Amino acid sequence: MIDLRSDTLTRPTLQMRNAMYAAEVGDAGREDPHGRSEDPTVNRLEDLAARLMGKEAAIFVPSGTMANLVALMTHCSFGQFVGVEKKLHVYHNEKAAFNIRPGGLLPLFYESNPRSGPDLDSIETLIVENKISLLCLENTHNYAGGTCIDKASIDTICQLAQKNGIAVHLDGARMLNASLALNTPEDELAASVDSVMFCLSKGLGAPVGSLLCGTRQFIRQAGRIRKSLGGTMRQAGILAAAGIVAIRQEKDRLIEDHANAQSLARNIAHTPGLVLSLDDVQTNMVRLDVSPSGYDAQSIQQGLEERGVKASAVSENLIRMVTYRDVGRQDMADASNIINEYFETLLK
Ligand SMILES: *Cc1c(COP(=O)(O)O)cnc(C)c1O
Repeated sequence: MIDLRSDTLTRPTLQMRNAMYAAEVGDAGREDPHGRSEDPTVNRLEDLAARLMGKEAAIFVPSGTMANLVALMTHCSFGQFVGVEKKLHVYHNEKAAFNIRPGGLLPLFYESNPRSGPDLDSIETLIVENKISLLCLENTHNYAGGTCIDKASIDTICQLAQKNGIAVHLDGARMLNASLALNTPEDELAASVDSVMFCLSKGLGAPVGSLLCGTRQFIRQAGRIRKSLGGTMRQAGILAAAGIVAIRQEKDRLIEDHANAQSLARNIAHTPGLVLSLDDVQTNMVRLDVSPSGYDAQSIQQGLEERGVKASAVSENLIRMVTYRDVGRQDMADASNIINEYFETLLK
């Protein structure tokens, strides 16, 4: 079985497991007067993450979902408006932020442009109306198929937001993929946003965890919100140790995932029955519109799985496939053969 459902499937490396075994730990839920935890390994991971993103401080949380939730609840108070696009993970998945409890935030929507980036005009309208307290961006854009927003666009949006006193949170679950694809260091991509989160447990392959990064003051407040949400972990150095290895040793390897996605995409781009835009294959995801086949994504997903390829139906017509460390170049060749043969039988 070639499993292309998500990069969250990535299993920890031997180096990560060894680092976890050897990790020096303490009670990460207790802090000194400077707000540093008693777990030295968690502190090292947080420092490494803050440096990577060019921010003063960072906080280790159990998941990307909680990183976003904590960010939104730190930026905003109950009942405030937040600018989002309907397909952002922050809105689509982090439902708790927009429920009456615990976040109570209200979404106001901006549009995406035809290249799946944020539409500047509609963001400008939101900002100028001046109702929102926070604007959310996502890089890479998960539901758009891993597309990137470049530094110039992020900076333009942030300038406009900040002129109007609006904070910007960047959901950078796959920020390191964006950085590689755009050839722009993470800290430059994140330079103008107020907060950024990234996941250790996607393509980086660590078992658990995400980092939320921002100013020291913001991260201290985020620590109080994390606690209130039940996100405080104790000897979390065990997990942080794997995260440190993930950042140090897996970051550059993500380029292989991008090359594998390219290879898969090129091999199936001209397959009758599906539409695939090679321009949209920018990182480690390949997205197929299967509507020309006359079948919906759900049944295509099932058909592919019966033939040995697991993929995700992400909407009625769209199938998403994600590359990660545990699927290699040969898997790409095998998967594209299976996909090509399957669509051939469908169209007979
Ligand atoms: C995966 C993901 C998250 C959530 O991360 P989890 O660790 O799965 O909770 C948030 N935003 C984006 C864009 C993601 O892809």
